[in-house]
Amino acid sequence: MRYLLLSDLHGNWEALDAVLADARGQYDRIVSCGDLVGYGPDPNRVVEWARQHLYAVIRGNHDRANCGLEDIEWFNPVAQIATRWTISKLSAENVSYLRNLEQGPVLVDCFLLVHGSPVDEDEYIASMADAANVAGYLEGSITFFGHTHLQGGFFWWDGEQYSLPAPEAAEHETNCLLEPDALWLVNPGSVGQPRDGDPRAAYALFDCESRQLSLRRVAYDWDTVRRKIDQAGLPSVLGFRLAHGR
Ligand code: ZN
Repeated sequence: MRYLLLSDLHGNWEALDAVLADARGQYDRIVSCGDLVGYGPDPNRVVEWARQHLYAVIRGNHDRANCGLEDIEWFNPVAQIATRWTISKLSAENVSYLRNLEQGPVLVDCFLLVHGSPVDEDEYIASMADAANVAGYLEGSITFFGHTHLQGGFFWWDGEQYSLPAPEAAEHETNCLLEPDALWLVNPGSVGQPRDGDPRAAYALFDCESRQLSLRRVAYDWDTVRRKIDQAGLPSVLGFRLAHGR
């Protein structure tokens, strides 16, 4: 079974549309590591698409905050403004869908989905040290995670820890065989708000039979999203960061 792995879509329809076009015909099922909404100007459109097309999905911290499951006082000021805006726009059906999203880890076929880490859905796994702290809690050979908006990941083989790089700026994809005798913690990257300095939308393809992973990047029309953000009255920094992948 071939999977399209999406994380941190954040209400960015144009990025999602570009990913789907780029991956067309190369997967059987779509799964998500959470954060369907928050920051972006198209929360309803993205959630309606998710309701129809996702085979499996877990909740992210922004999904929780945007359906009233959580107090947003601890969010930074920009995230608070964006969350209040998203809550005011989401339809009752879409709020109900977000409220019922499962908390990770969730087992899907040959891998697990988590939002932050296998231990805590809100934990950031950004560095080799962060990954080392949770290695002992991995429940299977392959875990996909999100939350950091940084594509790539980590693996452990023969007692050593290694990092898994994202594609370079000039590359469309990097490929890796996820050997069964290693432990893999892989972030497909953020579709809707990349923060690794590459403004292209990030995603992954993975085949459970061949164990082949592709980490991919695809350019999308971030300028249209930036204009929608401004027209909606959302903080303009949210459009600015899309242009820079920060
Ligand atoms: Zn996120």
